[in-house]
Amino acid sequence: MSSVSAQSPDGTARGVIVVGAGPVGLTAALALRAYGVPVTVLEAGPEGRQRPGSRAIFTHSQTLQILDRISPGLGAELSRHGVYWNTQRTFYEGREVYAKTYPSPPEGVYPHFTSLPQVRIEAYLQARAVVAGVELVWDQEIAGVSADDAGVTLTTSSGRRWTAEYVVGADGSRSVVRKQVGARMEGGKDDGWYVVVDVDEIEQPTLPRERHFHYAHPAVDGRNVLVVPFAGGYRVDLQLVDGDDPEGLASPDGVRAWLDAVLPPGYADRTSWVSTYQFLQLVAHDFADPSRRVLLVGEAAHLFAPFGARGLNSGVPDAEAAAVAIAAALRATNRAAARTPVEAFALARRSAALFNRDAAGEALAHLRPGPETAAAVRAAAARAPQDAEASAWLEKAPYGPRGVHRAETVYRY
Ligand SMILES: Cc1cc2nc3c(=O)[nH]c(=O)nc-3n(C[C@H](O)[C@H](O)[C@H](O)COP(=O)(O)OP(=O)(O)OC[C@H]3O[C@@H](n4cnc5c(N)ncnc54)[C@H](O)[C@@H]3O)c2cc1C
Repeated sequence: MSSVSAQSPDGTARGVIVVGAGPVGLTAALALRAYGVPVTVLEAGPEGRQRPGSRAIFTHSQTLQILDRISPGLGAELSRHGVYWNTQRTFYEGREVYAKTYPSPPEGVYPHFTSLPQVRIEAYLQARAVVAGVELVWDQEIAGVSADDAGVTLTTSSGRRWTAEYVVGADGSRSVVRKQVGARMEGGKDDGWYVVVDVDEIEQPTLPRERHFHYAHPAVDGRNVLVVPFAGGYRVDLQLVDGDDPEGLASPDGVRAWLDAVLPPGYADRTSWVSTYQFLQLVAHDFADPSRRVLLVGEAAHLFAPFGARGLNSGVPDAEAAAVAIAAALRATNRAAARTPVEAFALARRSAALFNRDAAGEALAHLRPGPETAAAVRAAAARAPQDAEASAWLEKAPYGPRGVHRAETVYRY
């Protein structure tokens, strides 16, 4: 491995720096360590911070397998602490139009997914990073990035300078790294509003551990509702309709009123997190800077609506691919050879992100249908569950196409 070319005066020169200790940055750091590359993570937040909200819950088995590859046993650890449900049901105006119970996987095989709040996933990743020898430096908010053929200089908001040969930008949706290297986000915003609520499990559970999707739930004036279990509770998404007041429906009284209508008694008292969302559908025009020294991963590079669970589940393969590229670039004997793996990373992961953005877009279009799709949903609901094809379409369409992208598998709840 070559050494850092430009030593900074305050001794903060490193070979590889990851910006951001979110789940994708921590995964990138673990993957780099798996390739024997020393790595430092610079995080804006303070040590021991409590991140607000739970965000991702659904981790696909293929993501668990990647995590096992870069930190043996990590996927199994998440799977053990998460929950899995075999039964999925879909309702239209309160009537069941789809139900399926899958067989449990054989002993030793991961189920298709595990469901665990992101804050807990991050805690496991961070503990592994410490054991793997990742240097974690807190209170380092990156404000400036300059990269050229010689390397990368990062400047924090307090003026500290760090230099590195390669930088992984994993600083999330408002990525400063992305903006500083001139990568533009391309795509759009969906106009629809969603209120997303997590509730803790009650002492004597009455909700089944099943995923339920309701088209036109009769108890909430025909709004769509999704209920997804996770370890310790349930995620409930309410899809607002035109004219709704997102803040009102997300206020303590607003949440209580509609939660009481869609969940059994007791759960509305156990709200642990409430948030309102309009979902962005954006992909960076390039996943690396022009000098191919800074690689963008996770939400620094792409933002998708969560239907289909493509965010973290594609951030993890981004992170692994970035580590593979950097390990190869560090071994290269000249700049031209070092650029090649970074080019390959940028092309492959951008192509995967475009696929995921379009797939999440199809899910959104189904959830906020125009007149034609709305009529198709009504017609399918009238035939389901007896018509198996109509029934399966009603079940699967809210998550977008499954299929396999050449660069990765895509995911669904
Ligand atoms: C409601 C909801 C549900 C979701 N459900 C799922 C799901 O089930 N499955 C799934 O796969 N995905 C899901 N996602 C998406 C998932 O949450 C994201 O893809 C994931 O958080 C992205 O991780 P990240 O590490 O890229 O970014 P982040 O989690 O945002 O982490 C970025 C890190 O960088 C730090 N940082 C920011 N700026 C700087 C700076 N200037 N300098 C230094 N550090 C900085 C931040 O403090 C943070 O620690 C969901 C998202 C939402 C909103």
